[in-house]
Amino acid sequence: MRTYCSDVEERNVNKYGVNELRKMFLDFFESKGHLVMKSFSLVPHNDNSLLLINSGMAPLKPYFTGQEIPPRKRVTTCQKCIRTGDIENIGKTDRHGTFFEMLGNFSFGDYFKHEAIAWCWEFLTEVVGLEADRLYPSVYLDDDEAFDIWNKEIGIPAERIFRFGKEDNFWEHGSGPCGPCSEVYYDRGEKYGCGKPGCTVGCECDRYIEVWNNVFTQFDNDGHGNYTDLSQKNIDTGMGLERLAAVVQDVESIFDVDTIQALRNRVCELAGKTYKEKHEWDVSIRIVTDHIRSATFMISDGIMPSNEGRGYVLRRIIRRAARHGRLLGIEGDFLANLSSTVIEGSKDGYPELEEKKDFIFNVLTQEESKFNKTIDQGLNILAEMEENMEKEGRTQLSGEDAFRLYDTYGFPLDLTMEILEEKNLTIDEEGFQAAMKEQKEKARKARKVTNYMGADVTVYESIDPAITSEFVGYDKLSWESGVTAMTTEEAVVDALTDGESGTIIVAQTPFYGTMGGQCGDTGVIRCGDGEFVVQDTIHLAGGKIGHIGRMTSGMIKLGDKVELSVNPAGRADTCKNHSATHLLQKALRTVLGSHVEQAGSYVDAHRLRFDFSHFSAMTPEELAKVEQIVNDEINAHLPVRTSVMTLEDAKKTGAMALFGEKYGDSVRVVQMGDFSTELCGGTHVANTGDIAVFKILSESGVAAGVRRIEALTGPGVFAYYKELEDRLSEAAKIVKATPANLAEKLTHLMAEVKQLSSENESLKSKAARESLGNVMDQVKEIKGVKLLAAKADGADMNGLRDLGDQLKEKLGEGVVVLASEKDGKVNLVAMATDSAMAQGAHAGNLIKGIAALVGGGGGGRPNMAQAGGKNPAGIPQAIAEVEKVLEGQLK
Ligand code: ATP
Ligand code: MG
Repeated sequence: MRTYCSDVEERNVNKYGVNELRKMFLDFFESKGHLVMKSFSLVPHNDNSLLLINSGMAPLKPYFTGQEIPPRKRVTTCQKCIRTGDIENIGKTDRHGTFFEMLGNFSFGDYFKHEAIAWCWEFLTEVVGLEADRLYPSVYLDDDEAFDIWNKEIGIPAERIFRFGKEDNFWEHGSGPCGPCSEVYYDRGEKYGCGKPGCTVGCECDRYIEVWNNVFTQFDNDGHGNYTDLSQKNIDTGMGLERLAAVVQDVESIFDVDTIQALRNRVCELAGKTYKEKHEWDVSIRIVTDHIRSATFMISDGIMPSNEGRGYVLRRIIRRAARHGRLLGIEGDFLANLSSTVIEGSKDGYPELEEKKDFIFNVLTQEESKFNKTIDQGLNILAEMEENMEKEGRTQLSGEDAFRLYDTYGFPLDLTMEILEEKNLTIDEEGFQAAMKEQKEKARKARKVTNYMGADVTVYESIDPAITSEFVGYDKLSWESGVTAMTTEEAVVDALTDGESGTIIVAQTPFYGTMGGQCGDTGVIRCGDGEFVVQDTIHLAGGKIGHIGRMTSGMIKLGDKVELSVNPAGRADTCKNHSATHLLQKALRTVLGSHVEQAGSYVDAHRLRFDFSHFSAMTPEELAKVEQIVNDEINAHLPVRTSVMTLEDAKKTGAMALFGEKYGDSVRVVQMGDFSTELCGGTHVANTGDIAVFKILSESGVAAGVRRIEALTGPGVFAYYKELEDRLSEAAKIVKATPANLAEKLTHLMAEVKQLSSENESLKSKAARESLGNVMDQVKEIKGVKLLAAKADGADMNGLRDLGDQLKEKLGEGVVVLASEKDGKVNLVAMATDSAMAQGAHAGNLIKGIAALVGGGGGGRPNMAQAGGKNPAGIPQAIAEVEKVLEGQLK
């Protein structure tokens, strides 16, 4: 146990610099068995819940939830963070930045409170040398365990440990893992205090500032406020590096620590202002200082200014910085200049800043000059709007006006808001959002042509037409080249980052772009930790080849030297299919005749399709012959040779050219032994033997005089047979047979089914007959005509008709009416013999007269009629009614 010293002494700490403190922290936790990991990108990876990384814990979430296994159970990081939620605080408090670095130590189911608290204390007091008597821990109200550790193990008197409620000291995010926190506050002395009575730890002023937060993730919240103990308890801590530096260096604010001070001084220098001369200026100086840090780091992680998401956060920050620079009297573009000071101060911890320097400056300057062009005009317009408001006695700017400033002059909403707030005016935010929505709708409707990515075709049209790409992939599957252009789905950009979809264009590529019926390659483009998965490759206007896909990690920017790798299996299978179409064409001409011309083709890694001129459906024999020829040529292992020559020379080789196709002066000729010679720009196998096997799946007509063959090669054929085999086994299993005796078994089964169903028919009519009982007893005579009206159970309409015929026969002459109930529905049949009809009986009208009673309708001829109904309960009444109706019919 350490003894607690209660005397407040003169401060006597070493003035460690920011870069030194970062290293001390990481070294300290490394000595406690932690793995030091590099800061993750500000762009969250696979996490849509967050726009930007805002804590050390955020990028480690998958390790906490157990989705991913951490490289070690103890990890320590210094993580770059952006907190846009703190933007209003910047310049006003001493302790907030939108950008800051968070030091953290993490335990994934390893150590817990005892170690976390002890190491936190050891680092602050022994490593850094802060005086114990200026430090105050806080714990969560109910967390006696943490209280006791501070009190009994560390030796802090009970009255110096603060207990706070859920709001401050319980970390929770909806349902899931959560737990109490323990924070450490540092008392910077009375001069920083608000002087209000009761100002103590927890006061919002800048005297007691929170430096470190230790989160003990120990519960699981089921979403209804029921907490159960987690089996794996975690530690997640966070300490602002700049705040630590501010207390260690004993300076007023984070803007006075060594690295940031250098930047702040640079701002003052550019503005010709002195810090601490005028409060208003100080706020602007701090805002510029903070925002340029945020912007520099965001751009280095590949975020580009835009009107949406992260890009909009960056745009707001850059434009806010630009405006406050103007308020300070800085003229012209100045952000790139300041950014170089940021990079100077932070490249120690973040070497990528130095590497991407030119890119960062470029993005900053472009965005700044774009804004500078309109800012004065915008400010004038806003001043006019304010005048109008004053005249009309309004204090709220309309949504449309705010939107006009946004749309035409590039004023982010919060910038307009901030300017108005200074004069106690507000904005109709809802109206702004509505105007924004309306404009988006309009833009969507106005959008004319879209490509399959849903983007304007004009995205590609805005690329510099001087840019072209060369295909180098006939015999190479990977290649290094420089990025010459990139786009998102909407715009030409300078970089793509994690999660973004878009198109990359390079000077030389091994990726084959969709052409001549052959599908484009897939694969991956890499640069450092940047990875772009290529889902398709296409030819763009002006000789450019576009790699379409998605960034799956990191960033790639304009000018980067990238490694392009084609998916080798996909390419190999595509080559097999393409070469097979050449063999197929020749085989078709051999079997069907020289009128066969290619009318179209499609090949990808999975299948091939070949359309050709021919005027009748192919016979099975012709198909078998064609398939055999192709397989023979595969087995002949013909070498495949390609050469580039003039069109004249090509024609001399007898090469088959596409009818109506325009060729350039030099053409590529693909020869497969002496069997096939074609003009073709596609990729092929080196030897026909590589195709392995060829199988036709179908032959069909697609247009007048045009037939289509679909076929498979190599692994596609095996997959096809495998699937057939699986289906066959499954079918055999169902009828308890083997694939070998399946046909025999099915023949037996079919015969059995036939016999059973005929047996079933006769059983059904027998059953219906029996249900009538001794039916002839029920025969009545109406005006001398015999009538049999009865209910037969369970018979369907067919059964009922059969039964009716039988009874009519038995009856000799007369009328038969039968009703049955089946599956909740009613069937009615009426029949009259010739002599009954002669006396006036009419089966059709009889049915009509009674059908309503069973909820139905129907009718028919005089001798035979039928009807259906929905109400079985009405059957007895209907049968009773027959007598009356018949009586009315008879003469
Ligand atoms: P505060 O109440 O001062 O805003 P917080 O409760 O938001 O702090 P946490 O979310 O616990 O802070 O973050 C952990 C640590 O990160 C804090 O103890 C502090 O040292 C640091 N920190 C948080 N926000 C900022 C910021 N905007 N600028 C600099 N450091 C920060
Ligand atoms: Mg906060």
